[in-house]
Amino acid sequence: MEEIFFYFLENMALIIAMMYLGLKAREYWMPKLAESNKGPMLNGILIGLLAFAIMYNPFFYEGMRLDLREVPLYFIGFIGGWIPGIIAMIVPLAYRIYMGGPTVWLGVGQAILLPVFIGALFHNRKRLRTPFALVDIPRLMAGLLVFELIKSISMVITTPATPGLAAIMALMAAIGVLALGWIVNDAHRNILRWKTLEHQSMHDTLTGLPNLRFFHERVRDLKYRGVPLAIVMMDVDSFKNYNDTHGHPAGDEVLRTIGRLMKEAARPDDIVARYGGEEFILCFTGVEDEAEAFVLADALRERIESHDFYGAESQPTGRLTVSLGVGISEPVKPIDELIERADQALYQSKRSGRNQVTVAKSEDESEVGHEYQMNR
Ligand code: GH3
Ligand code: MG
Ligand code: MG
Repeated sequence: MEEIFFYFLENMALIIAMMYLGLKAREYWMPKLAESNKGPMLNGILIGLLAFAIMYNPFFYEGMRLDLREVPLYFIGFIGGWIPGIIAMIVPLAYRIYMGGPTVWLGVGQAILLPVFIGALFHNRKRLRTPFALVDIPRLMAGLLVFELIKSISMVITTPATPGLAAIMALMAAIGVLALGWIVNDAHRNILRWKTLEHQSMHDTLTGLPNLRFFHERVRDLKYRGVPLAIVMMDVDSFKNYNDTHGHPAGDEVLRTIGRLMKEAARPDDIVARYGGEEFILCFTGVEDEAEAFVLADALRERIESHDFYGAESQPTGRLTVSLGVGISEPVKPIDELIERADQALYQSKRSGRNQVTVAKSEDESEVGHEYQMNR
């Protein structure tokens, strides 16, 4: 009995160590793959290999091959449901049949098929839908209890195993499964925390849009890759008046709506961000000339002008509008200079009566072009 206790202890150490390594490998080498829809299949394959490693050096007892393969197999059924569970079964199943012996079909049934089956029955699809979802530990252990009861009773009835042996196995399996649940939750909690912090540091809380830091990083990268782009500065017209009339919370709602309209207007590779206050900044990618930049910026202006904002009738023009200034990128110019030129063009739009787009001339950096200005 003592011998088998220490044997299972070794099994458990193997399970915990390999699970830890597998999670780290997933986190560092293949985060994209793990988060994609191939993630569950990958988990199934890794767990199948882990079960094989556990089975490789079993404890022989009256012709039986005893080991804790049920631990990873139950766990994958619980975490991933049927598909990863069935994938995880392939290698252990083939290996067990290949090894043969008097209890081969009992071993397959009780320690390979049954744990996946019960695990998948207790799998909570709604809760575990996202790749880094947390494991519900009480439910995990309740499912394991059901599995261990069925397995232990049938093992004692159908094989030479004694009740004491079955009990030690069940106890060690429970500790192993609990350890796996804790390890996964620890790893996932870390990843989720990290992702939240990363998102918060790159986004604006009011509008949910990317912030200026995110914008700078992405635009720098695009510029480095030589993508032609246009930077647009956008400012809400007479926003102080709106706030004074309807209050700050209503003003905040306008900013949120503008953020949404900007996201809707953006093409997949464009970048939109909140610059600060009631100012926004955009980067249109693949823009070759001033006319194209003007068309894109003016479409956004029109989209905002035609939106039915609450209380817009109290604005000086009877509508809630924005002014925009555009700077077209030239390969040698730094981004800050480009933003500065877009800002000057925006100022020009304000001076010329608001609710319009001005494109800064690209030849002469100090001058602001008027040819694309729309006066109304
Ligand atoms: P202009 O057409 O010249 O841009 O006029 P304006 O009134 O928009 O310009 P001004 O710079 O005088 O006012 C900007 C206003 O934007 C003042 C400030 O209270 C408001 N504002 C800035 N940030 C926020 C915000 O986060 N929420 C709300 N509700 N208002 C904001
Ligand atoms: Mg302003
Ligand atoms: Mg303003």
